[in-house]
Amino acid sequence: MADRVLAGGVIEGAEAFKLSAVTGSDRYLLFAEAARIRERFVGNTVHLCSIINAKSGRCAENCAFCAQSVHHDTGAPVYQLVDEDEIVRCAALAEQNGAGCYGIVTSGTSINKAEELDRVCRAIGRIKSETGVSPSCSLGILDEETALRLKDAGMETYHHNLETSRSFFPQICTTHDYEDDVATIRAAKAVGLRVCCGGIFGLGETFAQRIEMALTLRELDVESIPLNFLNPVAGTRLEAADNLTPLECLTIIAVYRFLLPDRRLAVCGGREKNLRELQSWMFLAGANGTMTGNYLTTPGRPSELDRQMLKDLDLPVEGYCGVEN
Ligand code: SF4
Repeated sequence: MADRVLAGGVIEGAEAFKLSAVTGSDRYLLFAEAARIRERFVGNTVHLCSIINAKSGRCAENCAFCAQSVHHDTGAPVYQLVDEDEIVRCAALAEQNGAGCYGIVTSGTSINKAEELDRVCRAIGRIKSETGVSPSCSLGILDEETALRLKDAGMETYHHNLETSRSFFPQICTTHDYEDDVATIRAAKAVGLRVCCGGIFGLGETFAQRIEMALTLRELDVESIPLNFLNPVAGTRLEAADNLTPLECLTIIAVYRFLLPDRRLAVCGGREKNLRELQSWMFLAGANGTMTGNYLTTPGRPSELDRQMLKDLDLPVEGYCGVEN
């Protein structure tokens, strides 16, 4: 199967499922083949991104894993949209930490189109003129008109996760439809934005459902795919979930690389907790990106450790990832 992918062919869901079932030392062969595919299609550079939790808590949605849902009692920070200066200050910090892309993330179903959107647009303009990072946004469900406003302000990538597969989504969220998320991806793509869209694993989904999500992402033709691994937060519906091992996470990454050979696969939330001592293996299993710095409501490790890890692996950090002016 690896030779077929390396030659530009595709594998189907049933074949990916066979890959997911390998055991013992065959797992290491799977990772090695995924690394070859990574090198062939996206090279050996690694993309770093960082985010700011620009508006936190009180989200009306009921995503089972989320510390920011109003349906959960987690003690996660609650605040309104931070000011423009703070968004720009954190962008400069992200740049210093080696990030090529900087995401402005807000909690909530979607952004208020008046004052909030104006503020985010002004911040995007300043990030473009005052820093060297590519601005991206994750502002919830979006229509084409809003996507275009953000694009005109200078935003280059829109981030919106599907979270899980279509068949498992009703177990995770019942306050909006999967199709609302799909429509958001289509709206961002329709106005010519790059799309960063992935999900979170360890929610109780089967491997077949992980593959189902990968096939949906392939069909939607998203450019970049964040792979998050559940770090259960006390007070959420999934606070007691413990469904992942480091090798399981690496197998997910490798199978995604087989299915999405030329896309950016970025390991994001939960990598420290779930990969533990095998964190650096994520690149050997096919990833070519990761988030550095803090996550939305949980701390990450210092960025120096990530840069040292890449240096030790002889994997250069990719520079600016956006559209050059
Ligand atoms: S994941 Fe996003 S939409 Fe779901 S509850 Fe959390 S902030 Fe809201």
